[in-house]
Amino acid sequence: MSVPDDAVVRPGARLDEALGRVLGERSAAPLAKLGLHTTGDLLRHYPRRYSEPGTLTDLASLTVGEHVTVMARVVQATVREMRSRGGAMLQAVVTDGTRNLHLTFFAKRRGALRVHEQRLVPGRTGMFTGVVSDYRGQRQLTHPDYQLIGVDADDEAAALVEVSRPIPIYPASAAAPTWRIQRCVRTVLDPLTDADVPDPLPEPVRARHRLVDLRQALADVHEPYDDTQWRRGQERLRFEEAFVLQAELARRRARTAHQEAVARPHVPGGLLDQFDERLPFTLTAGQREVGAQLAAELAGAHPMQRLLQGEVGSGKTVVALRAMLQVVDAGGQAALLAPTEVLAAQHARTLRSLLGDLAEGGFLGGAEHSTRVALLTGSQGAAARRENLLDAASGRAGIVVGTHALLSENVQFADLGLVVVDEQHRFGVEQRDTLRAKAAQTPHLLVMTATPIPRTVAMTVFGDLETSTLSEIPAGRSGVTTHVVPADNAAWVERTWKRVREEVDRGGRAYVVCARIDPDDEPTGARRVRDEDGADLLALDVDEGAPDEGADPGRGGPPPRRLRSVLEVADELRARPALAGVAVGELHGRMSPDEKDRALADFASGRVPVLVSTTVIEVGVDVPEATAMVVLDADRFGLSQLHQLRGRVGRGSAAGLCLLVASAPEGTPAATRLATLAETSDGFELAAVDLGLRREGDVLGAAQSGAASSLRLLRVTRDADVIAQARADARELVAQDPELEGWPALREAIDRQLAGEREEFLDRT
Ligand code: ADP
Ligand code: MG
Repeated sequence: MSVPDDAVVRPGARLDEALGRVLGERSAAPLAKLGLHTTGDLLRHYPRRYSEPGTLTDLASLTVGEHVTVMARVVQATVREMRSRGGAMLQAVVTDGTRNLHLTFFAKRRGALRVHEQRLVPGRTGMFTGVVSDYRGQRQLTHPDYQLIGVDADDEAAALVEVSRPIPIYPASAAAPTWRIQRCVRTVLDPLTDADVPDPLPEPVRARHRLVDLRQALADVHEPYDDTQWRRGQERLRFEEAFVLQAELARRRARTAHQEAVARPHVPGGLLDQFDERLPFTLTAGQREVGAQLAAELAGAHPMQRLLQGEVGSGKTVVALRAMLQVVDAGGQAALLAPTEVLAAQHARTLRSLLGDLAEGGFLGGAEHSTRVALLTGSQGAAARRENLLDAASGRAGIVVGTHALLSENVQFADLGLVVVDEQHRFGVEQRDTLRAKAAQTPHLLVMTATPIPRTVAMTVFGDLETSTLSEIPAGRSGVTTHVVPADNAAWVERTWKRVREEVDRGGRAYVVCARIDPDDEPTGARRVRDEDGADLLALDVDEGAPDEGADPGRGGPPPRRLRSVLEVADELRARPALAGVAVGELHGRMSPDEKDRALADFASGRVPVLVSTTVIEVGVDVPEATAMVVLDADRFGLSQLHQLRGRVGRGSAAGLCLLVASAPEGTPAATRLATLAETSDGFELAAVDLGLRREGDVLGAAQSGAASSLRLLRVTRDADVIAQARADARELVAQDPELEGWPALREAIDRQLAGEREEFLDRT
């Protein structure tokens, strides 16, 4: 297992050694199942928590069927022959001081139990692990694996020290219980020198914050002598996570900031000015302010890199369009990237109608100075595609709208000056970069998101962008009233459909959102994640895709409720007396793009005023006449997602109504989410609540970024200070050494982190 002495060994090479070589295949196999393959993997597998050596586990908290590790004291151990069945049985009783737990071992012969009998001496304390069962009303562990405190040390002095140390509890499995992991970590860690463990944190940064080096930090968290020590190690490792991420973001930001971009200054009397003249409404103060900011940056010689976050309905599209027109006036083109075909088609329609004859370049009746809006989606017909490709490549289309089809190789631009990405959480950093690479010089970039992003998440995920915010909603909107409707209350449900009827009779339209397409489906339009309490939760996520195979059905808990589906609900509504004579349409991801367009157009025109849909309408769909939103199985959706859905109504002058039909028992996280939503209309406030309710991985996962998976100790929900500090330090370092050439260990850590992001990107395409 040792490296030949004469070889020139790269620093850090030992961290890449396969665990099988270091520990032997037998020990390594169960670790591989936990995703730990190299020495480095194992050392980065930090303890989840630490058990106080003196503190026993409260045995009242054990649930039958659960795999547990408990700390308890042995009370007695007795072996007896079993006359009826033959063989022998050892029964031990352990206690937390109040309650008892039985440990049971069976063997063919009494002698085989002697090892346990000799070790399970009354008075000794140990950790016991196994699946809790119930035998005649008594909780027990059968053949538990166990480790006695202080007994397995080499001598008495070591044993004494051992007994008083915090015990690391690792994320573990039955095949690799926590103490076996602990032993493996020691085997791997103890022989390593500082030189074997290159530190991604530059020494000056460490010194500034009095952080220990990496070798020490690993010893601190894996083999602490007291609580102060593991806290010290964690603090340093947490900072490292923030710093590595921020260093990469700072590097990207610096790279782009040094690049040249074509300046696209405002051209007086151009399309933008003409457009402003005919705008049917006045811009809000926020729209004007952000508009001025964008105008100034587009006129600059370095690429704009801006994130525009705006409350649902705050009017981001107009802001983006005005920026695009400035670029077109200056001779360039703008690309608008939308996450779904429905949204891309709608954007093209909206832009064309907002522009009127300004978008009829080359057509009879077009304005004198005019341009075209091209639309490129994955599924459009060959002829239409050819024409649009030509418009983009020739520059005849000043504005090119599309889905990720815009990323494909054969899409070319004459002079791409601005990339606008709508609803950012659906596009990875790499996709943005692909599109930007289509320009001769780095184009300006505007990323828009309707999901308000708390500052810390923005710093973590979009740290390479500057942020603008639109918090104001245009005047004259009456807002949306939200109610929770208990799904099992037939009278309330009936009333819901009556309300829909009333809205329709008044000239309004209603969306009815379901979690899946047909009755036999898995939920779609949402990734399944788990709530704090283990319940499934549909997270804010990608366009309708394949159901998540990773969902694990074999867990305890109540059987999942049957979710209502689009096809089933549409049929049911057509038969409802309350909706007699009202046309009911359907919209979901399995329809062709033409069918989808038609369904939306029929809905918008009022021919089909009730639309039963999946979450495909979640982002950005804009039908001003829509006044009612009914969400079925609302408890299965995330807070931000419901806020987005709700944002589809009340966009015109008529008040909106949002009815959340759910069965969420009081006190459950789902009930809390729904109640919060009913009380709060401010998206930023909701985002903050959401952040508190979600699990960490889901927060970053929802906001994309494979970087999330590299965060182990850092919590964007809690570590705002650490992130801000790391960001300041990282920017300073990058200012001195833009490519981090003096810090190879940091570069390597970044590359490892980015590898994950790239994989994630590949997974999705
Ligand atoms: P979002 O920010 O959610 O993308 P949109 O850009 O779709 O919002 O705008 C929502 C609606 O508000 C659109 O119908 C748009 O025409 C309208 N709108 C935008 N700005 C204003 C304004 N200043 N005054 C009135 N209506 C506006
Ligand atoms: Mg929008």
